[in-house]
Amino acid sequence: MTAAAPSPEQDLPETFYLKDYTPFGFEVDSVELTFRLQPSATRVLSRIRFTPKPGAADPRFFLHGEKLTLISARIDGADVSPEITPEGLTCVTPDSSFLWEAEVEIDPAGNTALEGLYMSGGMYCTQCEAEGFRKITYYPDRPDVMSTFTVRIEGAENVLLSNGNPVSQGDGVAEWHDPWPKPAYLFALVAGDLVNHPDSFTTQSGKEVELNIWVRPGDEGKCSFGMQALKKSMAWDEEVYGLEYDLDIFNIVAVDDFNMGAMENKGLNIFNSSCVLASPETSTDANFERIEAIIAHEYFHNWTGNRITCRDWFQLCLKEGLTVFRDAQFTSDMRSASVKRISDVIDLRARQFPEDQGPLSHPVRPEQFQEINNFYTATIYEKGAEVIGMLKRLVGDAAYKQALELYFQRHDGQACTIEDWLKVFEDATGRDLSQFKLWYSQAGTPRLKVTDSFAEGTYKLTFEQTTAPTPGQDHKDPRVIPIAVGLLNDKGEEVQPTTMLEMTEGTQSFVFEGLGGKPVPSILREFSAPVILERDSSNAERAFLLAHDSDPFNRWEAGNALARESRISMITEGTSPDNAYLEALQKLVRDDDLDPAFRALILQPPSQSDIAQALFERGITPDPQKIHDAAETFALVLAQQLANSLPRLYAETTLEGGYAPDAISTGKRALNGRILALLTRLDGGDQASRQYYAADNMTQQFGALSCLMKAEKGGVQSAAFLSQWKEDRLVMDKWFALQVACAAPGQAAGVAADLTRHPLFTLKNPNRFRAVMGALSGNHAGFHHHSGAGYRLLADNLIALDAINPQTTARMCTAFQTWKRYDGARQDLIRQELQRIADQKGLSRDSNEMISRILNA
Ligand SMILES: [Zn+2]
Repeated sequence: MTAAAPSPEQDLPETFYLKDYTPFGFEVDSVELTFRLQPSATRVLSRIRFTPKPGAADPRFFLHGEKLTLISARIDGADVSPEITPEGLTCVTPDSSFLWEAEVEIDPAGNTALEGLYMSGGMYCTQCEAEGFRKITYYPDRPDVMSTFTVRIEGAENVLLSNGNPVSQGDGVAEWHDPWPKPAYLFALVAGDLVNHPDSFTTQSGKEVELNIWVRPGDEGKCSFGMQALKKSMAWDEEVYGLEYDLDIFNIVAVDDFNMGAMENKGLNIFNSSCVLASPETSTDANFERIEAIIAHEYFHNWTGNRITCRDWFQLCLKEGLTVFRDAQFTSDMRSASVKRISDVIDLRARQFPEDQGPLSHPVRPEQFQEINNFYTATIYEKGAEVIGMLKRLVGDAAYKQALELYFQRHDGQACTIEDWLKVFEDATGRDLSQFKLWYSQAGTPRLKVTDSFAEGTYKLTFEQTTAPTPGQDHKDPRVIPIAVGLLNDKGEEVQPTTMLEMTEGTQSFVFEGLGGKPVPSILREFSAPVILERDSSNAERAFLLAHDSDPFNRWEAGNALARESRISMITEGTSPDNAYLEALQKLVRDDDLDPAFRALILQPPSQSDIAQALFERGITPDPQKIHDAAETFALVLAQQLANSLPRLYAETTLEGGYAPDAISTGKRALNGRILALLTRLDGGDQASRQYYAADNMTQQFGALSCLMKAEKGGVQSAAFLSQWKEDRLVMDKWFALQVACAAPGQAAGVAADLTRHPLFTLKNPNRFRAVMGALSGNHAGFHHHSGAGYRLLADNLIALDAINPQTTARMCTAFQTWKRYDGARQDLIRQELQRIADQKGLSRDSNEMISRILNA
């Protein structure tokens, strides 16, 4: 059956365009809010002073407001009757400054969408970015409207928090004042019976700042790592960017039910508990790393996002790209820069490249949207950070520093655009960045084709860039691409250290002179631009770079390319795993001079989805089952070839003594985990079982359980794990995800379906939903099993979740974005499911936009 896409003339949701931007016609001089908390009937009283802007382009007094019950409204003390629509209200207002007062009623307990004010595990909390504040009270809910907020909270809970500094705390009442003007999306309120993990930080100018992490009773033992990460972030931002914290207090609150990872509300960050709570017994090394990075990210937003915010949501990358870039710099400084870079590129290729080459492709600064929540994407965040990395490579470190100083000096307290951002770089460096700006306006991943020639000591590299059409953008202009290149001679010595080539034309050549022989090029070192490099390179050359390249990223890249090519010829030609590659791998794994974390990355196989994408790009329809089988065969053959060394390698990489989440120990455990996975293919799980029972930390316990489950030997341990950890929500998320991730292709959908009937499964907790459904879409051969059971199950659950939580539903729709890669039968199955979702009565605007974009590709 082939069904049509949703018909465009029915209930077409409104589309917003960047070109339509008009400033709000009023200044908001001050905001006073009072909250009288009741689970199902919270009253919000607002007193807001507005002053009309003379000569405003849009003089309408329009306040956003959704799902609010208006009790009363007054202007300068006199009752008014505004005109109310589902989106907000309009009202006739005086010509000069006036006081707006409103009282509304909202229902936090009934708010399962987790936007605005809602309840999670008995506590009140808020999520206002992007447009949640309009579900709290009537307000010009747009980021370019900034004001100071004073907030009074009346509630029976023992902890009552809001932004800024505390003014007074009494029995059942607290008052907060935030002196820094901010947009409403940074508003936050928390009320609950909470306990804190306190600490303090003295800023470089000598100001004492009170720090707290607030959690539910019982979680107070899981805060110290997060607190250390916060203090390190505060010190790092002073040292590297000269930026100091600006309030007397900084609060972090952990919340179980949360759509995002965390939120940078001014002075009151709210975190998904999975992104802040950590202990060696319950968290893996990956959890610790992620927590450190996210705490830093949200803290860094205090300047890049809060003090300087976005003029409108089209500029989201202004704060997100820059803050992701800053948190990556922080992680590189705290841990290993090359390991961080390689991990980021793996992530970029897994999440952003498919987005950029599929139906959801959009520019880093989009020019239109229906639902802004759908644009919290890998393109805005990760590609947005890559664009800043390129800018820094092009202008150099010193000029980057100058430009950033100018940015903070010129724009502090403002709501800015990408034009403002680029202008500070132009002013600081004298460069014309108009061509560079294409990185913000043109969607799609450029392909960079490389050819070379050598004659009489002169080596010539020629690059040709092309970008395929993306939705709404057929024509692409050549971009500025920084290409970092080094040259090696045939002994593996570097004859040309890293040079930054600046490509500006569609086709361009660069020449290196005075060489003794034809060099081996190492191109796009450190992954200097987010492009796809195309070069007819031999496996011998890749093996040479894997052995000799001085650039750690390209060294890893050479190994990654070998792994991919070997896998592809196994799939398309039925060959055995490539011997030269297997030998190179064995050498590297045993090379004690190499960082264990790097060796672990070298052993990490390309993902099955990456192989599917690589096949698709070569015009070959990927068969998920064959890709899965090749991965299994490769791992078995590698394990057999390493058989003699595995027990010794395992022993050597096993750490003695207590657990510590530092970078070196983490790297060793990562390598140890890879070795155990290979060993399990040979010993039937004996070593993994011993490790499972001996483990005193989650990394080793869960690592061992994963190996056992993949070998289908983990039934007993999985049951034991469930009974040991059933009270711990975050550990149970891991258990749920693991069941699906380890299921054989034909069983994955069935396992996931059973889990949705498990007593601990709930649609109301986004983490639990993502654990099961995210693991299903991540099990490539299982999700794409020819029966279509995976597609059907995900669609069933998206339909069920949409009525409860549109935001998380819409985000999970991306599991279908690569559907055009696959064969006609699978495409038909997916199209049916997408159509079934689209046909649901009352489908949310969020999901409707995502499904239409995916279907109409
Ligand atoms: Zn952010």
